[in-house]
Amino acid sequence: MSLDPRRATAVQLAAAYRSGEVTALATTTALLDAIEHEEAHLSAWLHLRRDAALGEASAADARFTAARGNTAALAALPPLLGVPIALKDLVNLEGTPTTSGSKILEGYISPYDATIAARLRAAGAVILGKTNMDEFAMGSSTEFSAYKRTTNPWDLDRIPGGSSGGSAAAVAAFQAPLSIGTDTGGSIRQPASLTGIVGMKPTYGRVSRYGIVAFASSLDQVGPFARTAQDAALLLHAIGGRDTHDATSSAEPLPAELLALPSGDAAATALKGRRFALPKEYFVAGMEPGVERAVRAAVASLEAAGATIEEVSLPTTEHALATYYIVAPAEASANLARYDGIRYGASKHGGGDLLQGYLETRGRGFGPEVRRRIMLGTYALSAGYYDAYYVKAQQVRTLIARDFDRVWAAGFDAIVAPTSPQVAWRFGAKMSDPVSMYLADACTIPANMAGLPGVSIPCGLSEGLPVGAQLIGRPWSESQLLGIASGFEAITATAEWRSVEPTALARAANGGAA
Ligand code: GLN
Repeated sequence: MSLDPRRATAVQLAAAYRSGEVTALATTTALLDAIEHEEAHLSAWLHLRRDAALGEASAADARFTAARGNTAALAALPPLLGVPIALKDLVNLEGTPTTSGSKILEGYISPYDATIAARLRAAGAVILGKTNMDEFAMGSSTEFSAYKRTTNPWDLDRIPGGSSGGSAAAVAAFQAPLSIGTDTGGSIRQPASLTGIVGMKPTYGRVSRYGIVAFASSLDQVGPFARTAQDAALLLHAIGGRDTHDATSSAEPLPAELLALPSGDAAATALKGRRFALPKEYFVAGMEPGVERAVRAAVASLEAAGATIEEVSLPTTEHALATYYIVAPAEASANLARYDGIRYGASKHGGGDLLQGYLETRGRGFGPEVRRRIMLGTYALSAGYYDAYYVKAQQVRTLIARDFDRVWAAGFDAIVAPTSPQVAWRFGAKMSDPVSMYLADACTIPANMAGLPGVSIPCGLSEGLPVGAQLIGRPWSESQLLGIASGFEAITATAEWRSVEPTALARAANGGAA
């Protein structure tokens, strides 16, 4: 049976390119055709690079052809060579538009590559284009994009999660094996959970933020989306590591294990003897029973595979959300001050009056959620309130980190928890109530506050929609977390829910026929 280019993982493509079974050009063409055919229904993309991507695919094929027959030469080629990938539209890629989902950046063309974009190019990945997102990554549903409304391939009346909703939907819909997201409070893990894929927020500092449009600089992390843990590991390896352009990127070495993550029996066996902490505060009030059931079933299967599970308490969990909504808007208000109509993108002239020009550009360029965050952040940082809100929030942040430290000191390998208290909701359900939207991130925000790595992995279905389980680990434990994720894939490989795929998109794109 030949490889279906749409369904193939990055690992499978890499093998097939090397054996000559398929070419990067054929794969890229198939994906671009599918994207163009389905975009009217999925709305995941803001910019496609058809010609550039086909050129990159041909260049990759030329390298495979030159190396074929020479085992050493083939082995020396980078693992992502010729593998298609999507970038969230806040990653600068020289010569392409970068909007960050905002009208205020309409018309802006990136003059340089973000470090991760340069690393992906150097790895020979084929960059298909840029994906839709909530404006400046603020949101949990992608409905705050100024451009389009991305649907969930499992049910086109529902949101794909956010803010990296376009990147998650594209991978879930088999339009790309890999994509890039960013996670400030959950924007990789939550959409991964809601679309049934793997999404990882690495340790703060693991991946360079140079050239990534900033939201909240002490929380933002770039990370991978994929359909398997092994693929996510390959992508993390390609983008991670110290970058002299980003002083917060860490010199901590990238583990070579990311390139050879165990799968199948080896991964399943490695679960034996692992100790997992189950934090009781993560089973929050308002969690859907179907979600809780699927997560608890995942915990039971880890136990059946030889792991031990102990309930723990992370008492500051309940304060994480409130703390985040001081820290993140405060940092955002500072980061977004640069959009003044002079330096970037859209500009309104204000009749030649400088102040009027700022006011009009910012008043018209920013959408409602971004304006709300700027006002919250400016208020929290203003004289008289700074100590009461911002300083207090930073202190609580330390307490949140200490809660996690106690878990690691007790010897646990990882925390297992739900990613999202709910499955994907219907469009509009939370648009008139910002706080209900904020609550969607109650389980993901603590890891950002503490700078810890977290990964969401598919663990079942509720009401026919995907549920994600979250693994949170100690700093720099990404390869361990993804190894556990791979083990979970192995022990649930034959579970019935794994055989269910999203079909809503294909049905709609084929005019109603499956
Ligand atoms: N939903 C959260 C927010 O709106 C987190 C977003 C993110 O991680 N970028 O801020």
